[in-house]
Amino acid sequence: MEPSPLELPADTVQRIVSQLRCHPTDERVALRLDEEDKLRHFREYFYIPKVQDLPPIDLSLVNKDENAIYFLGNSLGLQPKMVKTYLEEELDKWAKMGAYGHEVGKRPWITGDESITGLMTDIVGANEKEIALMNGLTVNLHLLLLSFFKPTPKRYKILLEAKAFPSDHYAVESQLQLHGLNVEKSMRIIKPREGEETLRMEDILEVIEKEGDSIAVILFSGVHFYTGQLFNIPAITKAGQAKGCFVGFDLAHAVGNVELHLHDWGVDFACWCSYKYLNSGAGGLAGAFVHEKHVHTIKPALVGWFGHELNTRFKMDNKLQLIPGANGFRISNPPILLVCSLHASLEIFNQATVKALRRKSILLTGYLEYMIKHYYNKDKAESKKPIVNIITPPHIEERGCQLTLTFSAPVKYVFQELEKRGVVCDKREPNGIRVAPVPLYNSFHDVYKFVSLLISILDAAETKNS
Ligand SMILES: *Cc1c(COP(=O)(O)O)cnc(C)c1O
Repeated sequence: MEPSPLELPADTVQRIVSQLRCHPTDERVALRLDEEDKLRHFREYFYIPKVQDLPPIDLSLVNKDENAIYFLGNSLGLQPKMVKTYLEEELDKWAKMGAYGHEVGKRPWITGDESITGLMTDIVGANEKEIALMNGLTVNLHLLLLSFFKPTPKRYKILLEAKAFPSDHYAVESQLQLHGLNVEKSMRIIKPREGEETLRMEDILEVIEKEGDSIAVILFSGVHFYTGQLFNIPAITKAGQAKGCFVGFDLAHAVGNVELHLHDWGVDFACWCSYKYLNSGAGGLAGAFVHEKHVHTIKPALVGWFGHELNTRFKMDNKLQLIPGANGFRISNPPILLVCSLHASLEIFNQATVKALRRKSILLTGYLEYMIKHYYNKDKAESKKPIVNIITPPHIEERGCQLTLTFSAPVKYVFQELEKRGVVCDKREPNGIRVAPVPLYNSFHDVYKFVSLLISILDAAETKNS
């Protein structure tokens, strides 16, 4: 039977349970979910690490030929198999023709970035002219803030969420200092309520309503790196702009994870990296978005020759003809080797489509949540069983694929035991383990195996302590 797109994850599990006449925690449920998964063949497009190659592995606890359970695509995505081929194409070109490679081939180096920008449009929901592929994420954030953050005595604050990613925090801090502003007064941070882990939309909107007149820029993450909370991007954008603020987003954890419609939502600017869900490899080529409506009003503060129109760029007459929009923000010539790896990954995204990936992701993460709640619900917690708490919001619209877990057992112990058994995830301060089942290459069986390992680790912790 075709799973309906409107079916909730728990209902899908129930449907399969009644078809198979088995318990919801039965391995066959996971196997059936994989059979029904129309995107499962995309896993073959990636190298899945083997447990034997993972540094922290304990070979007495695993079968060495097994695949790792890789739930760390939110930090570094896996390698698409085509990366090597695409890199070799450009290396060969370089070897065979040297500088002529600038002009010819699949990715002429001068326009290498532009040759793949079209593959990014559906992923972020923008038209090609609104997107530039360049630099690293934090560099792009700085470049965008230099143009969008123009403080005045009345409107001088930057609003951001509490515990923003350190790089974003530092970027904002240093931008304020660049304008000679007092960081304490100008950096407006919204914290969750006492005893809560994630932000409430009503609290965000209240701050915007009350203080919006003094806020120059609202800079939020799309998905919070620690809690996995997906913010309501269109609502924050609308509320901020109604108060006259520019509204921008750091989409590091949102791009390739959730559906984005930056153009239609009217977001002013955005930036993202490509090595997380976009699988372009460490230090991959980052992205920037500047909405079309700013084409004639917002200019780059710092300019280089790749912001100059291509048809006259090489006249070298030092008369700047600035490209309107995002591409005018490019400073240097594009790093072609980084274009190759991103190219390989974006092709896969475009075959799979973000819409279909998101549909699978909701079910995949929903299945993980269902299993964790099944074993570690509140009732059981009262009977001295170990506790696993999910701090990521339970509503599908408020999260992507990542769940952040906290435990009654020491987090360091849980994490180390997972690592020894070939689960790749990460531990983040203060006490969370982030797990991100990625719809492109993770399976429902990965989730099943992860939960089984978690149970045995927590059970062992309990026996140890009693
Ligand atoms: C991963 C991440 C970064 C990393 O910044 P780089 O400039 O790519 O090193 C910055 N901000 C957020 C929100 C991130 O998640």
